Order: sequence, then structure tokens, then C-alpha cells
Amino acid sequence: MQTDKHLISAAHGSLHVELTSYRFGKPGGKKAYIQAALHADEVPAMLCAQKLRARLEELEAQGKVIGEVIVVPAANPIGLAQVINERPFGRFDLSTGINFNRGYPHYFERLKTALEGRLGADAGENVRVIRGLLREYVAEWRPHSDTVTLKKALFQMAIDADVVLDLHCENEAALHLYAGTPLCDAVQPLADLMQASALLYTLGAGGEPFDEACSRLWWDLAAHFGARDPVPPACIAVTVELRGEVSVSHELAARDAEAILQYLAVQGVLDLGAVALPPPSCVPTPLEGSERLDAPH
Ligand SMILES: [Zn+2]
Repeated sequence: MQTDKHLISAAHGSLHVELTSYRFGKPGGKKAYIQAALHADEVPAMLCAQKLRARLEELEAQGKVIGEVIVVPAANPIGLAQVINERPFGRFDLSTGINFNRGYPHYFERLKTALEGRLGADAGENVRVIRGLLREYVAEWRPHSDTVTLKKALFQMAIDADVVLDLHCENEAALHLYAGTPLCDAVQPLADLMQASALLYTLGAGGEPFDEACSRLWWDLAAHFGARDPVPPACIAVTVELRGEVSVSHELAARDAEAILQYLAVQGVLDLGAVALPPPSCVPTPLEGSERLDAPH
């Protein structure tokens, strides 16, 4: 396991904020990126990530990490420091009011132009070319605040991954997942392994959340370039809502972590032998079909 410290604060600032990531395996094969608690005070997500980190250390020692896995167990150190009257406040950046899970760059327009005449019939080669440009674009991102520096650090680790899992929790909820419409088949095994109650899909939720910023550009490019220059949905990015904020237990976190590891094996990131998939736990349903209800009491 390699520990990486990312400096988030501007040089000579009055605050020192650091982000920590853990890297397992090595580059070259399939890559998975897993971050927890982008909204800071999401304890079920952080606990699950800690379990993942411990298990990945064991699996790495056993030579079972055949790809590369990056885990960020506390993705929002800035939000973690935002406490008002003893209550954590991690959803929005207090200095701007912007949701920490919004406003990630969508590079489709830029890629569309840059890729003109550069793609061919080989989908794998197209993915390689697109990822190369994506790494360049994210590296060129010039943050103007610590929050944007944090967003860049997270996005930079995720942008070229095959699997991106963004672990969150709700105030009160059953376990559910959000993913792009073209990813439903690829995400179904994760839903089943995690015994999710819902898999909500959309082509675009709006506001550029983290998962979508990693995945949407692929199907936007596919629609633009068509079948002659195939662009597969190369990044399976999923937002995982690990129940409600008080659904915190070692047992649940260990079970969730184990399900995620099994999914990484399905995706060829880990070698855990044959994974027995449970029967479907839910049928994917459109996010647009969900309805908000106000409780009068
Ligand atoms: Zn969240």
C-alpha cells in the first residue's frame, strides 16, 4: 500500500489542509477509484472505506490485486472542519454555498473538437487516446480556491479509472445507487451484491456531480462519433448511498466492503476466483421517475 498526501491549502495560507489517498496494486491493468464522504460527515461511507483499506492491504499481500485500486476514505477534509454550533456541516462549501458534489468539469465539447480525425475502428485504442487527453485537461485545471483544489485532486485520481465508486449516505434511506443509463447492465452486479433497494439511472442529473463528470463524457462522445469510431462507456461511475447517516455499524460496513471487493473482482481489478452473483435485488428505474413527497408531520 502506498500512502499519498495531497496538499490542498494554498501556499502561505492560514490553514493547512491535506487529503490522504491509499494506492494498491500497480498501474497498467484495470483501475478502480473509490472515495468516501464527499459531503464530509457521512460516517457509513468513511467506515466502509476503512474496511476496504484493511481488506485491500490483506489482498495485496496475497497478490490478489491484479489491477490498481485507489481509496480515499475521507474525501472532504475541508467539509469535515465545517462545524456550526457543534453540528457538522459538510454538504456545501460555507465560503461559496456550492455543493461539494457539483461543478466538476465536463470535457465533452473540448474532446469533440480535439478528437476530430483521431479516432478509429479500435474501441480500446480510442479509450486510450481519450484518457490521455483527459489527464492533460485535468492537469491544466487552475483552481482558484482550496475547495476547487480539493475537487481537482479527487477528479485527477478518478478521471482515467475503469470503475469509480463515490460512497455517500442520506439522512435516512435504504441502500441505493445512481448511475448513467448506458451503465445499467454493468452496475447491476454491484446492486445485487450490495443488496441495493434501487438503481436509479439517468443520462444527466444536472449540475455535474462527481460520478457523472467521470462517466457522461463517454456516452456523449459515443453519440457524437457514432458506430464508425466506437467509444464505449469506459468508466463505470456510480454514486452509492450507504443508507442513512445513523446506519453506522462495523457489521454493515464490513458487509458493504466485501460486496464492493466482489464487484471489483467481477470487473477484473481483483482476483478472488469465481464470484457467485446473487439474484437481482432490484430492477433499474429512471431517476426522472422518482417523486418527492413532503410529509406534513
Ligand atoms: Zn453525499
